[in-house]
Amino acid sequence: DMSADIIDGKAFAAKVRGQIAGQVARMKADHGITPGLAVILVGEDPASQVYVRNKGTQTLEVGMHSYEHKLPAETRAEDLYALIDRLNADPAVHGILCQFPVPAHLSETEIVARIDPSKDVDGLHVVNAGLLASGQRAMVSCTPLGCLMLLRDRLGSLSGLNAVVVGRSNLVGKPMAQLLLRDSCTVTIAHSRTKDIAAVCRGADILVAAVGRPRMIPGDWIKPGATVIDVGINRVDAPERGPGKTRLVGDVDFDSAKEVAGAITPVPGGVGPMTIACLLANTLTACCRIHGLPEPD
Ligand code: NDP
Repeated sequence: DMSADIIDGKAFAAKVRGQIAGQVARMKADHGITPGLAVILVGEDPASQVYVRNKGTQTLEVGMHSYEHKLPAETRAEDLYALIDRLNADPAVHGILCQFPVPAHLSETEIVARIDPSKDVDGLHVVNAGLLASGQRAMVSCTPLGCLMLLRDRLGSLSGLNAVVVGRSNLVGKPMAQLLLRDSCTVTIAHSRTKDIAAVCRGADILVAAVGRPRMIPGDWIKPGATVIDVGINRVDAPERGPGKTRLVGDVDFDSAKEVAGAITPVPGGVGPMTIACLLANTLTACCRIHGLPEPD
């Protein structure tokens, strides 16, 4: 059978969380410090509520403190900024994230700019983007960090491999490209204006899809044996499961891709669980840096 290996992100993420739990316990025992993560949710977006709940549960499971701040949709910018200022100054809080999207009267750029870069566990602050781009110690966005861990686990050294990242968002595509470059890949970033994107993808030893279009990438865009990381989370109708039912699919057409790829992440159960594990890793890293302690590797 020539079918691709399925990369089990769920199992890998559980292993990472176990390591973090051990490091948190040691931090408490040796230094009396408990890492704390504050999550801000403005409004009642149902998907965001699920994400925030999962983050809170897993934060507590590894022994960290979780602080949830749920604000009404009509929250004024100045009140949100006052909360961020308080969290920036709070020594019990080592990581701060605001769940996006926020209601339209608020600016995501300004919210991110208000967060202390050393507590910016989503890696979105321009200081962190700049540190990453210039090869310095940064807080790095959780999803690309999770993808990198899966790739290193699968491939060992990434040096010299051709990597194609489809998507150029500040949250996923751009930091993913930076991390692959840091690991000495030859990196191409494709996006909605890319010419002959199929041919570009066919050159990829590593293909990372972060687009947000269900099953956009078919098997015949994939180089035989390539490692495929599917970041996309798209909800589509699933009439085969019953009337009105839906399910999640990635940006890659899994069924045709798995006949060509060497390894591929499923959706769900691939990149998604790694993202939260890396959020916890980032919170622990931020805590170590803030307290001047050695970082876990
Ligand atoms: P954005 O919408 O911010 O960015 C999408 C990117 O895809 C853009 O750069 C866009 O290009 C590009 N794009 C759109 N259409 C095409 C096309 N036809 N061909 C090539 N490129 C195209 O999305 P995000 O980066 O935030 O997220 C991407 C996906 O990943 C989503 O499905 C999201 O749900 C998922 N996601 C999953 C996470 C996880 O934990 N697994 C975490 C974060 C996101 P252009 O810039 O030219 O418009």
